[in-house]
Amino acid sequence: MIFRSASTHHIFQLDNNNNQADVGILGAGIMGCCLALELAQRGYKVDLVDRAFAPMTGASLHNEGKLHLGFVYAKDPLKATHRLMARGSLSFSRIIENLTGSQPDALRPSQPFHYYVPTSSQLDMDTIHQHFHDVEGAIREESQISADTYLGRKVDRYFEHNSFEYHKSIFSPENTLGSFTTEELSISPAAVANILCQAIKQQPNITFIGGTEVLAAHRLASGNVEIKLCQDYETSKTVYPCVVNCLWEGKLRIDETAGIHDQGSWILRYKATINISAPRTARNGIPSATGILGRYGDVVNHNNGAYYISWYPLCKIAETIHGDGRDIQDMVHKGAASHQIKKAISNYRSISKFVASITHKKFITDNILETAAYIPSIVSLLNSTSRHCEVGGGIILARGKTDIDDPESHLHQRSEIGPVAYGSYVTIDTGKYCMAPLFAEETANMIANIL
Ligand SMILES: Cc1cc2nc3c(=O)[nH]c(=O)nc-3n(C[C@H](O)[C@H](O)[C@H](O)COP(=O)(O)OP(=O)(O)OC[C@H]3O[C@@H](n4cnc5c(N)ncnc54)[C@H](O)[C@@H]3O)c2cc1C
Repeated sequence: MIFRSASTHHIFQLDNNNNQADVGILGAGIMGCCLALELAQRGYKVDLVDRAFAPMTGASLHNEGKLHLGFVYAKDPLKATHRLMARGSLSFSRIIENLTGSQPDALRPSQPFHYYVPTSSQLDMDTIHQHFHDVEGAIREESQISADTYLGRKVDRYFEHNSFEYHKSIFSPENTLGSFTTEELSISPAAVANILCQAIKQQPNITFIGGTEVLAAHRLASGNVEIKLCQDYETSKTVYPCVVNCLWEGKLRIDETAGIHDQGSWILRYKATINISAPRTARNGIPSATGILGRYGDVVNHNNGAYYISWYPLCKIAETIHGDGRDIQDMVHKGAASHQIKKAISNYRSISKFVASITHKKFITDNILETAAYIPSIVSLLNSTSRHCEVGGGIILARGKTDIDDPESHLHQRSEIGPVAYGSYVTIDTGKYCMAPLFAEETANMIANIL
C-alpha cells in the first residue's frame, strides 16, 4: 500500500493526472477497508480516500463491536432483520480471515451477552422468548446454507431462558422481568482496526489517500465517475471507471451530488461510548448485557479487565434528520454553549484540563449508576480508583425519523441496507459493523459485472 496524505501533497496532484486505479473507494471505515482488500485480492487497483490521516478512525473504531445475531430486532414488523444480521455475523470472521489472515481469536471475543427485560420494556417476556426461538432457527438455517460458523465456534444452543434464581444473581429483580443467556459476542473494534490497517499497509494494489475531504461525485456520460476532492485547502478532480461511496455519515450528501436523491427519511445519531480498564479486583461478575426492548443500554465485558458501557438515554447526545453528518459533528464538537465555555477557558490550560476531567467523570459516573439500576455489579467499577477511562463516540446512520422509544420507529428494522449500484457509481449503507465484510464480498461481485 502507498500512504499519501496532506504532507505529500505533490504526489497527490501528480496522481490525479495519471490515475491508474480501477476503483475509487470513498471512506476508509470497516466498509471501505474490507471492500478495498477484497477488490485488491481480486487484482483490481484501488484508491481508498478518507478525510482522516489513517484508516478506521470513525464509527468503525468507536462502537460496541457486537456481532449481532438478531436478538435485539424483536420488533421488526418485516421479521427480516435478524436473518440478515445472522448472515453477516456468521460470515464475519471467515471473511476477515480471508482478507487479513487473522484467526477469530485475534478479534478478541468478549464474554457472551445476556439480554435482560426491564419492567418498562416495549415487549413482554413471552413475545421476546418467541422471537429468540425464531432467531435461533434463522441462525441454524443460515449456517447450514453458508457453512459459516459464528466466530468459528461450534454452538448447540444459541440462547437459554434464565431461571429466576440465576437471573436475580445478575440483574435487579425489582427493575427487570427476567433474562436470557445467549451465544452472542462482541469483538474488539480496536483489534479489528489494527488488523485491517496492517493488511491494507501490506497490499500493493491499495493506495490510501488520507487527509482528503470528498466534496462531490459526478456520474459522467462516458460511464466514468468524477470525484471532487479537497486536500490542504486545495481542490482537485479525479476520474475512476468505478466509484464506491462508503462514507457512512457523509453518504447521503455525496449521493445527492451524484444525482441520487433518496426520498425516504434518515436519522443520524451521535452516540457516546465509555471504555474502562479496571484492575482484576474490580472484575466481579459484570456480565456483557443488553436491555431489551427500548432506550436502555449495553455493557461489554471484554474478558481482559476492559469494559464498554453505554447507557443510551445519556449516550445518545445528538441527532438530526437533515442527512448531513457535518451537522451532527458540529452539534457534538462545537455545540454553541460548550464552544463558548471551551473558548473562555482555553487560555488557562490547567483549568481546561480540570473542567474536561470533571465533565468526563460525571458522565462516566452517571452512566454507571443508571446501568446499575438493572445490573447492580457494575457499581464495582465506580469504586475502582486505578481504573483508566476513555470517552469516545460515533455517528449512526439509519432509515427513520423517530427514536427507538417510539414503538413504530423505523429503527426497529435494519434490513433495507447494503450496496446499490447506479451504473458505475455504487453507494453502500453499511447498516451495521457486523455486516461490512459480507457487503464487501457482495459489492466486489457487483463491481466484477460493472468493470
Ligand atoms: C456507539 C456506536 C455503537 C455501535 N455498536 C455497534 C455494534 O455493536 N454492532 C454493529 O454491528 N454496529 C454497531 N454500530 C454501527 C457501526 O459502527 C457502523 O455501522 C459501522 O462502523 C459503519 O462503518 P462504515 O465503514 O460504513 O463507517 P465509518 O467507520 O464511519 O467510516 C466512514 C469513513 O468515511 C470518512 N468520511 C466521511 N465523510 C467523508 C468525506 N466527506 N470525505 C472524506 N472522508 C469522509 C470518515 O472519516 C470515516 O473514516 C455502532 C455505532 C456506534 C456509533
